Formats: sequence, C-alpha cells, structure tokens
Amino acid sequence: MQFFAPDRRDAELAMEKTLLARVSRDNLARLHKRFAREPHVAGSAGDARVVDAIAEEFTSLGLSVEKHPFWGYLAKPVSGAVEIVAPGRMTLTVKEPPIAGDKYSEEVGPSLGWNAYSGSGEATGKVVYANHATRQDFDKLQELGVDVKGKIVIARYGGNFRGYKAKFAEEAGATGLIIYTDPHDSGYMQGLMKPEGGWSTPTQIQRGSLKTLPYSGDPLTPGKEATSDAERLDPSSVALPHIPVQPIGWGAASKILSRMRGEPVPGGANGGWQGGLPFTYRLTGGEDLRVRVKVQQERKIEKSYNILATIPGSEYPEEMVIIGSHHDAWVHGAMDPLAGTILVVEAARLFAQRVKEGWRPKRSIVFAAWGAEEYGMIGSTEWVEARQEALGLHGVAYINLDGAARGLDLGSSASATLKAVLMDAAQAVTVASAEGEPTSTTVLEDWVKRTPDKENPNEPRFGNLGGGSDHVGFYCHVGVPSAGLEGGGTQGDTYHSLYDNVYWYKQILNDNYAAAEMITRVVAVATARLADADLPPFDAPRIGEDFVRHLRGVAAVAEKRDLTMSTSALEDAARNVAEQGQAAQRAILAVIASGSLSKDRRDRLERLYVALERLWIVDRPKSDRPWYRNTFAATDPDSGYGAWMLPVLREAISKNDAVELKRAEQTYLRVLESVRQTLVAAAAIAG
Ligand SMILES: [Zn+2]
Repeated sequence: MQFFAPDRRDAELAMEKTLLARVSRDNLARLHKRFAREPHVAGSAGDARVVDAIAEEFTSLGLSVEKHPFWGYLAKPVSGAVEIVAPGRMTLTVKEPPIAGDKYSEEVGPSLGWNAYSGSGEATGKVVYANHATRQDFDKLQELGVDVKGKIVIARYGGNFRGYKAKFAEEAGATGLIIYTDPHDSGYMQGLMKPEGGWSTPTQIQRGSLKTLPYSGDPLTPGKEATSDAERLDPSSVALPHIPVQPIGWGAASKILSRMRGEPVPGGANGGWQGGLPFTYRLTGGEDLRVRVKVQQERKIEKSYNILATIPGSEYPEEMVIIGSHHDAWVHGAMDPLAGTILVVEAARLFAQRVKEGWRPKRSIVFAAWGAEEYGMIGSTEWVEARQEALGLHGVAYINLDGAARGLDLGSSASATLKAVLMDAAQAVTVASAEGEPTSTTVLEDWVKRTPDKENPNEPRFGNLGGGSDHVGFYCHVGVPSAGLEGGGTQGDTYHSLYDNVYWYKQILNDNYAAAEMITRVVAVATARLADADLPPFDAPRIGEDFVRHLRGVAAVAEKRDLTMSTSALEDAARNVAEQGQAAQRAILAVIASGSLSKDRRDRLERLYVALERLWIVDRPKSDRPWYRNTFAATDPDSGYGAWMLPVLREAISKNDAVELKRAEQTYLRVLESVRQTLVAAAAIAG
C-alpha cells in the first residue's frame, strides 16, 4: 500500500475488498469441470477444444483475446512395452487401468504410460538399477565398478527431472531405460492408496517429457519464435534421446527388481538407494535376468496456441503484469495444470468486472493460458521469444500458477523484487480451514509459521526459481521479475497420471475449492498492486541482500571443489547495492507519501524501476548456455527442476576453471555496479 499515494489508498483498499469478496468457489468448480472434461495433450483435438473453451471464457468477460499460434516439435506415442525375457517370459503392464467409480478414467479406459521424446526402437539386455539416475548416481555406479554399457537401466522417479535420467543413462552407454514410481515416494509408504486414499497404486504411471536442451521452448527454434515458416534446426542435430525410455508403475518394476541377483545397493533406505519395495534392492540383475524395452513414437511439428486476454493500462499500456498457467495436460490435467489455469480465468473475471464498473489499472494486465508446457515450456517460451524487446523494456512481473491450488499451505519461489508484494498480498487474505470455513489467521501468518526463513524468522522461506514451468522464458531469458505460487498439503499424488482428473482432485483436496479461492485472492491483490500502484511495488533492497545469500551458497560449492573464490569484493558490492536499495526505497516511499510526485518524475522512476532486474541480463554468446541470459538465476543444468543461483559463477565452478571464475567475479562486479548506479539515479529523481 505504501506505493500508492495517500489519496489513492482508500480506493485501493476498497478495490481489493471487492476483489476478495467476489472470488467464487462455484465458478472455480465450474471452470474446472469444463476444462478438465477430456484428455487434452498438446496438439490434440481435445486440447484445441480446451483452447476454444478458455478463449470463450475470456471473450465472455468482454476482454480482448488473442489466440497466439505456434508450431512446436512434439512427440506422440505409438506403442510401448516392457518384458522380462529370461528366465521365463513375462510381459509387464505399461498401461494404467481405470478405477471403478472414477468416471473420467473409466471413459478413457486402459491408458499407455509414455515419456515424450523417447527414442524409438528396441533394446534387450541385462539390468542395472541406478537409483534416481542423477549424475551422482552414475558416478557412484562407476565408482562401484558397475558397467552400464549395453545394459537396460531401471531407475526410480525423483531426485531430478526425468529427462536427465535418460540423458545420463544414454551417456553411460545404456541401451534402454525404465523409469518407475517407487512406493517410498508415492504409494503405501506415504499413505493409503487409491481408491481408499490418494497415493499411487501399483499401476499408476508418471508420464512426462524427456527434453533437456540448453534452451527452453521449441526444440527446433532456439531463441526465435516457432512460426509456421521459421528457420528450423535439423531434428537429427538436436540432442533428444535416442534410447527407448518407458515409464511403469511399481507393481511392474517389482517384477524386475525382485529378480535381480547382484550386489545389494549402497546406503540403505535413509538417503541410500533402497526404495520401498519389500526386498533388498540390488545393483545388477546377475547372469540370467534379461529385460526388453520397446518404444515407438512419432516426432512431428504440430500447431498449438497460447490464449491471452488483456486489460489495457491507462497510463503505461505497453507495460505488462502477466498472470499465467498452461492449458495442455498429459491426460485430463485437473491438478497439473488446471488447478492453476482456473485461477487465471477467475482472476480475469474479477478484474474484467471492475473494468466494466469503470476501473482501469495504470499498467496492462495480461491473463495467459500457455500451450505445450508439458513438452518443455514451448508455448510460453515462443511467446516470450517473439516479444523479447518489448518484455525487456516493459515486462513488470510474471506470476506463474501452474497447478497452483494443491492445498492451503501457500508457498512461493520468487525473484528478489517481488517477495515483498507477495507477502503483502498474503497478509491481505485469510486462510480457510481444511473444511473450507473462514478463520482469522492471515495467509502470511500461516505461511511464516509453517516455513519460517532461517535468517529472518518473521518472513516465510522463499524458494529459488529453477526450471520446470512457464516462468523460465520470462525470467531466465528476458529477466522479467517472476514468481510461482503454489498451495501444498495434498494427501496424495496424481502427477501426470490417468488419475489427475476432477474425481481424484476432489477426493484428495475436499470438495470445496477453498485452496483455489484462497490463492486466487492472493494473486488478485498482488496483481492489483503491481498493475496500479504509483510505481511498481518492488523490493529494491532485497536484490543486494539476496545476492549476498546466494554468494555464500556458491562459495560453499566452490570450497567443496577446492577452488578459492575471493568473495569479499563481491559481498561488499552487494551490500552497497542493498544499502543503495534502501536509500532509493526510502526516497521513493517518502515522495509518494508526500503526494508531490510529479508526472514527469514518476515516468522517469517508472522506467528505471521496471527495468531493475533486467540489469542481470548479460549476453554471453560463448557460454555453455547462451540462451540463459539471466546472470542472477538459471535452471540447474544437471537436474532441471532446481535452480543455479549466480549461474556464471556456478558454470566456472562446475568446470573447475579458476581463470573463468575470476572473469565471472568481474562480470558480477560490473552488474552490481550498474544496479547500484540505477538505484542512485532513482534516489536522486525521487529526492
Ligand atoms: Zn504443469
């Protein structure tokens, strides 16, 4: 609220009160049922119908709607099979059966589990168990003298993005890969299974993409929009998997694992390689066991859409506050993504209604439903790549809501400048009880209580933005301040399975849409403030403070590798940035509070402030991943979901390159200095 001039604060409070009161659980439930009616994998007829349904919802609100087409390189399953061929023959199931009473799964029938971009072909051989198939796990196998060459690797989900399992298995010489869900992670070890509870049955299968390229988005058009006639890479030159990869449930996996006769796995169950099946896991299958994996897929370019609805800003129409979630799903996608997408559409309804009543935000608000996220953030990345320049100048914030309403335990990963506005928004909303009854506890209080920050226990712990969803293009490529919001606490798991439908969503999460309502409210308040405050309500001091924190993390990694990093110059520079951030913030809040900020000065401050986090964008054409231009954060190139903070330093450390590390330090000193100067300029204009 401090970013609103005193004479605007009452109106803003009234506005927020209206937004909070109007969030409708009934409408959220209606949208959910509508969008999750049928399977709608990207590029399918089902997905085209969901695209039309979302566009229709936006249009009915009176918003201007854009259907943005893109042509992405997708993969479709033809067949998949896993067999034990010796001793004896046994075909293992690769399909998920319907569950009685769950009409969505009954309508679909037995459904093939598959991993998009698997190689096509067949492999037969001995078996090696590789735990989570992380880089460390393959290093461990090598250390233990287990040869993976020519073998079929079996690995459990978890520990990294599944694409890296395929990448590392292939690099180690495996000829096929089986990925399964272990009951230690989802199944009877976690709680009751479906249909009694919400956890994985023996036949539940996690689908998902295997794409791990050094850029996000369409595999064939890195850095450029995937238009129909874009210049494309030759698919054979793109590092997609060659070996067949098949996901299965733990029922099928136990048939293989229980027949293995090699050495026991290291470490036991607590942090070791032992999973939750009732026998000792082993590293190798022994002399007799032979397994076959056979997968057929088609890779081809398919047309899909992003849908965008815009409320134009009154004062800075070119500036954008963007709220998004994807629409494509592996099957029905009730949780992933629609438990977020319905929040985007509901938030659009709230703001559209206010617009009809005469309200206009200063900055534009864009509500987005992205296509082909599941294949690797294709739609959102292509949209960003088409608008790099505009977003670079005018992108205020991107808030990602992929599958956000998973429970009432709010959590967030966010870039530095957005943390304060998210906490303020969470303070403006009260948390509901599990039964959906109102309480007097604010979402922020509840959040801090559950997960206090270690260094500052009055604040909640924020995660770092890594990979795995649609913020990647905005944040890692262009530097738009970004955040993901998500409620946790789900007692069960339907991730990328046939059971991710409205029936199981309601079974696991209550019938009441209280989580969806709560998170929509938080998003609505944050959006109202980001779009309509006198200046973007950014937390400027946090940039330097977070840098110091991340620097310590990076220095600890360097130390483990016996690399010396001189952090003191960087730490001093970051502290200066934090101090200058405080000075700028004080000056800005003072001039806003005085009510005497002239239009001319406000325009100049707006331009500086909006671009603050963009100062981290540095073109490094010679780096390993030039597409990842944000030097503050990138996705972890070895795990996919996680984040690499201060990635230029991390890259040098990972190569054990002391000279490059020195250069990286210089890069950060330069960027920190430009951030400091910008804050000095902002303070001068405000003062
Ligand atoms: Zn998703």
